[in-house]
Amino acid sequence: MPLLVKRCSIFVFASFTVGTSIAIAAAEWQVIKVNGHDYLSVDNISKFYEMPAEVVPSGSKIQKETADRPLEFVSGSREAIINGARSWLCFPVIEHEGKSLVTRTDVAKTIEPLLRPHRVPNVGKVQTVVLDPGHGGYDKGQMSRFGAEKDFALDVVRKLRPILQAKGFKVVMTREGDYFVPLEVRAQIANSARNSIFVSVHFNGSGDDPNATGFEIFSFTPRGAPSTSDSAISSKAYNMQPGSRVDAQSTALSACIYHSLVGHIPEYDRGIKRARFAVLRLTKVPAVLIEGGFLTERGESKLISNKDWREKLAGAIAVGIENYQALPIKKQPPMIVADYRRETKSAPVEPVKQEGSVKEADASLLQLVGRSALLAQPQTQPQPATPAPTASLETAPIVP
Ligand SMILES: [Zn+2]
Repeated sequence: MPLLVKRCSIFVFASFTVGTSIAIAAAEWQVIKVNGHDYLSVDNISKFYEMPAEVVPSGSKIQKETADRPLEFVSGSREAIINGARSWLCFPVIEHEGKSLVTRTDVAKTIEPLLRPHRVPNVGKVQTVVLDPGHGGYDKGQMSRFGAEKDFALDVVRKLRPILQAKGFKVVMTREGDYFVPLEVRAQIANSARNSIFVSVHFNGSGDDPNATGFEIFSFTPRGAPSTSDSAISSKAYNMQPGSRVDAQSTALSACIYHSLVGHIPEYDRGIKRARFAVLRLTKVPAVLIEGGFLTERGESKLISNKDWREKLAGAIAVGIENYQALPIKKQPPMIVADYRRETKSAPVEPVKQEGSVKEADASLLQLVGRSALLAQPQTQPQPATPAPTASLETAPIVP
């Protein structure tokens, strides 16, 4: 059983490096096997992160307003609230012997980077922000009676560029005007820039539901998992799909931008999602795709047509990017929806926690996500020749 062997090797490595704390650690995460798959109980998750968690019965809907709820799961569903924002798990929560269980994949790949993005290795390294206005030229994207997605997206990115430049970022745009750039070229632009992140801006549309509204953000689907729009039941079909070496960083970037968006602009929270869109699949750097509202909904299409509203959208994206860059400096979680709503001029000032060694309580997470996922890498200077760490998340056994 190769999976077992792999898990053992993580354990051995962890006990070698962490030493005695591993005994305490083993009690922290209690992996529950169901049909050969690894799960953690919601109770265990709640205790580990010291956050209250609620599980609502199967078929229930999470309420519209989510900002005041730290952790909430729906039995039988992938929908969840994490830090007050809707987030989509790769696999549904199941009930087993009186406990609500979340897959180990989701604890490692979804919950951990969303709750503690500041602990993701190599997170926040940004010199260049590659801004990608969706569509262009013959590809108009979604349409409203006020205009085309390609034009609104370009305008948001044009507004975003000087804001980011003023914050000291180098900014590259994948297109400067109304023409189409092949998706692989957009990804190449990001891949060839030094310490870059890729932020694609789009607007949404729905042919089925003219009332659909709200923001959502996507990062690349982890290896072995279905995308948010796929049926979890057919997940076996996706097991051969490759993942990304930077999916934890991308999820962290999603969290930073999304909380700022929903925290600054009162739009419906559709959630933090995963997809295998070409631009996310082809980029080798942390990458997200923002859907900044629906052009097919009357009220929202009107908002999107307003240049002041688009300026606000650009401002919120910029704050999110800035917070992402600050993660390794502040070594604490970024502001979340509730923080933005409370204030907000500046982030609450908290003492900088000392990082560099794994807290005892976190040691057992080594067994789940691997050591390098927990230890901040020294980031004193650029390391061009050093390959990204591949241990940690990517080699952690992914079972369901
Ligand atoms: Zn689009």
